[in-house]
Amino acid sequence: MSTMTAAVVRDFGADLDVTEYPTPEPGPGQALVKLIATGVCHTDLHAKDGDWPIKPSPPFVPGHEGVGIVEKLGEGVTSLEVGQTVGNAWLWSACGNCEHCRTGWETLCEQQTNGGYSTDGSFGEYMLVDARFAAPIPEGSDPHEIAPVLCAGVTVYKALKQTEVRPGQWVAISGIGGLGHIAVQYAVAMGMRVIAIDIADDKLNLASQHGAEITLNAKGADPANEIQEKIGGAHGVLVTAVHPSAFGQAIGMARRGGTIVFNGLPPGEFPAPIFDIVLKGLTIRGSIVGTRQDMEEALDFYARGLIHPTYSKRPLDDINAILDEMHHGKIDGRVVIDYAEQ
Ligand code: NAD
Ligand code: ZN
Ligand code: ZN
Repeated sequence: MSTMTAAVVRDFGADLDVTEYPTPEPGPGQALVKLIATGVCHTDLHAKDGDWPIKPSPPFVPGHEGVGIVEKLGEGVTSLEVGQTVGNAWLWSACGNCEHCRTGWETLCEQQTNGGYSTDGSFGEYMLVDARFAAPIPEGSDPHEIAPVLCAGVTVYKALKQTEVRPGQWVAISGIGGLGHIAVQYAVAMGMRVIAIDIADDKLNLASQHGAEITLNAKGADPANEIQEKIGGAHGVLVTAVHPSAFGQAIGMARRGGTIVFNGLPPGEFPAPIFDIVLKGLTIRGSIVGTRQDMEEALDFYARGLIHPTYSKRPLDDINAILDEMHHGKIDGRVVIDYAEQ
């Protein structure tokens, strides 16, 4: 049996084990991909800590922003070629037959598998992809720079569409981490005006660099009143923050008739004032990653030079330090693992 180096979750809450791990073999409809780069998403941290009601089963390999080269095809694969550059995704596969899959909502499929969660992901030298769900990486892309688009990018792109904000209208983006700093860029590219909220000034500076017109620090203060005073409330609000308090505050940031979209997934609950929601005609919705069509569109924004994730390259050996920095909100944009450094 051949082996590879991978970062493995053995127990929830414990450090990942960077170790020798069996190299996977592609089954029917799958391909084996040799990794070049992978982004590190806050979801990987939730996975490692077993934060969510539906938990993965250790041992498993996290990672769902992996970019690499197809090295071997499983039986019956005709849609990929050896040598092609592809990415994995959170939506690793879906059934294709249920009501959700049939109506273009494969992200809601109850039979879906998730990369780096219910099936091994990209925190290893090799990963498998389902040929139907592998994301073709546009030619000429920088594999490290595009990696964060595979989750952070497609997720916020879809969520921004779900806010129903029109060009020229305001979107408030709460949480300017891996997801949020790319959300600012998509929003600007989509013609929206951006107000950015975080609890750290360096994150707010990053939002300004990427085109946010107004920035507000929510540390110790609810920014909702200021947003109402400055712009009369935002037409749409996108929450990517990792603290439940941001979810309650989002409701107060919206303009009458506005739509609030939740991407962030911190464990917990938030207060939802019934009177305000009803009287202001607010819509609150969750949004989970994006479909293959959303992925193609999100990657195309990158290919056209409209978005540039801010990232830093690190070796896989640093994975526990990286997750610790993420937990303490110390990462600028995204960290991308560089497999050439192994
Ligand atoms: P990240 O750690 O890179 O960024 C989180 C940001 O939230 C940081 O900038 C932090 O300073 C900020 N923050 C923390 N508390 C805040 C508060 N009270 N108000 C405003 N900002 C606050 O994380 P990420 O990779 O961007 O992921 C964010 C969340 O989105 C995670 O919970 C992740 O699991 C989830 N996620 C959801 C989807 C989806 O499809 N819905 C996809 C990917 C990630
Ligand atoms: Zn993710
Ligand atoms: Zn389905």
